[in-house]
Amino acid sequence: MLIVKKFGGTSVANKERIFHVAKRCAEEYKKGNDVVVVLSAMGKYTDELVDMARDINENPSEREMDMLFTIGEQMSVALMAMAFHKLGLPAVSLNAFQVKMHTTSVHGNAKITNIETERIRAELAQKNIVIVTGFQGIDENNDYTTLGRGGSDTTAVALAAALQADACEIYTDVDGVYTADPRKVPTAKKLDEISYDDMLRMALNGAEVLHSRCVELAKKCNIPLVVRSSMNDKEGTIVRGEALVV
Ligand code: ADP
Ligand code: ASP
Ligand code: MG
Repeated sequence: MLIVKKFGGTSVANKERIFHVAKRCAEEYKKGNDVVVVLSAMGKYTDELVDMARDINENPSEREMDMLFTIGEQMSVALMAMAFHKLGLPAVSLNAFQVKMHTTSVHGNAKITNIETERIRAELAQKNIVIVTGFQGIDENNDYTTLGRGGSDTTAVALAAALQADACEIYTDVDGVYTADPRKVPTAKKLDEISYDDMLRMALNGAEVLHSRCVELAKKCNIPLVVRSSMNDKEGTIVRGEALVV
């Protein structure tokens, strides 16, 4: 099986969590699966980059913002590869340029147009765990682009589609998709299942648990998504076509 696993910022926010994620992925790898890991920047690092940019220039160029943003995800993937190595497992980190993750050139809101799969396939064939930067791409000039805040979810789904993965799992800091934001609405209930359309509606209404374009892409490519916590083993929520209306 080829499994794409995406971990958000909170899930890789510090050393302990990075090792926790590495160990979780190692279990899957040791079963003989091909594992592709997509990561966000650590914790609130992307917000810190925004603050740093605005401190220099209150109206920074969008191209330079993308140039700056890419270091966040690049830091995560390199540290994660080092964590795998520390655990004695073969792993390699790749950024959008190395993969060749092509996008439109709309800085800050680019759309993935094509992902080349040769490099990832070659690394998987060498039995490497492949760790890919979320959120970033390259345009036709080989300039870095980003997919919009929260865009690492979309990277994961686009990679799952390009690699024809058997599963795409989005690991986050809540147990799954709830009827409302569980941090704001304590009575919100976790859903076992939700349809693409209902999930898309929630995402467009601001439920940042999944990037809206990731849901659109999952629907278009008919890729079921599992949204679950990186902190525990609870089942999570399946996002797919045939789910009952909430
Ligand atoms: P990640 O860094 O893993 O991508 P995000 O912060 O982007 O995580 O998304 C997870 C957050 O989405 C949760 O912490 C939660 O507060 C928020 N959220 C908003 N609406 C929902 C919802 N309906 N179900 C689950 N989480 C939600
Ligand atoms: N690091 C980016 C952000 O904070 C992308 C992501 O987390 O999905 O928006
Ligand atoms: Mg997110």
